Amino acid sequence: MDLGDTQHPKAKAGLYLHFPYCLHKCAYCDFNSKVASSQERDRYLDALRREMDAVAPLHGDVVFDSVYFGGGTPTLFSPQYLVQVLEMARRHFLFADRPEVTVEANPNTVDVTGLEYLRSGGFNRLSLGIQSLDDVDLRFLGRVHSAREGISAFTGARAARFRNLTVDLIRGLPHHTPESWRRIVDQIVDLGPEHISCYGLTIEEGTKLHRLQSQGAFVLPDEDTALALIDVTDEVFSAAGFVHYEVSNWARPNRECGHNLKYWQGGSYLGIGAGAWSYLGGRRYGNVRDPREYARRVFAGEPLVDEAEELGGWDLVAERAMLGLRLVGGVEFEGLVRGTSPEEGARLRSVLTELAGEGLVWLNNGTVGPTPRGLVLLNQVGVRLLSAQ
Ligand code: SF4
Repeated sequence: MDLGDTQHPKAKAGLYLHFPYCLHKCAYCDFNSKVASSQERDRYLDALRREMDAVAPLHGDVVFDSVYFGGGTPTLFSPQYLVQVLEMARRHFLFADRPEVTVEANPNTVDVTGLEYLRSGGFNRLSLGIQSLDDVDLRFLGRVHSAREGISAFTGARAARFRNLTVDLIRGLPHHTPESWRRIVDQIVDLGPEHISCYGLTIEEGTKLHRLQSQGAFVLPDEDTALALIDVTDEVFSAAGFVHYEVSNWARPNRECGHNLKYWQGGSYLGIGAGAWSYLGGRRYGNVRDPREYARRVFAGEPLVDEAEELGGWDLVAERAMLGLRLVGGVEFEGLVRGTSPEEGARLRSVLTELAGEGLVWLNNGTVGPTPRGLVLLNQVGVRLLSAQ
């Protein structure tokens, strides 16, 4: 387990840049994203550049081997702008030889020429927010693209010679049945991405879907159906040669997302932009979330960090375990307790042994991982770890 000790010269880390703007707010979305004028977006981009100027000298001893432009919808900015920001990051920070460089994109915000520009400008991985290949689903989710446009964005990315493509999917919509869902995942497999992220729909407070659900406008699938949808997902993706490596992620061999693995394996990352989190040298801190306030603070020279914590003791052990147990292949027990007291190590061993007795985790030669049942009941595992305080 890489604990990301950035005190050590040339420690490895990931670089995340947040682009908090979208064409339209999706009905389920509680991410840090909004619709804004082009003036606000341009000012934000200037602020992002300034933040990089300011923080880069503090991280001269770190090699960034993954870069992730996330959002929001980064591709709401022109490919030229995005490549400029990437070039600026490359000038400011020390990049590894062949870093994984991902940009998130939504259908309707990209075309082949723009994608070609992004690829030749250094982005080598594209994450497409396709979400579904059924127009009824897409309307329910409040997406502004059709299934046909999702497919066309994917084929456009291949035409632009992106060799590492990932797509996002959402399962568990009110009308999903194992049969209807199978048709969607079959089509996704036929598209042929290298990586798939598939999340169960959750209804977050403050979203349009939350309001509709409280008015009784829809009911989510019952537990049996939700489990059957997970089974169909696993069956179809496994049969197509994808490896299920994280609770919501499948990849062709060696195509796991290196950047996101850092989050799950306790690695280091530096976040730039509104609401972006960093984890460096055992300290976790997050920038102010509101994009306008973020830009205001940048130009006023005020501190950007709104929340910070030094993780230690049982909090650190529980968090490492909760993140590590998202990984199907598991994590090393030693990595989970590194730097903490023998009492915490003993406590973790005892909680994990109990969970193993209940069939939720497995322990093997110093490695601990989730069983298929544990993956489905990950929240329950998390509650048990936290309550072992
Ligand atoms: S495109 Fe993504 S970030 Fe933007 S509103 Fe929709 S779900 Fe949220």
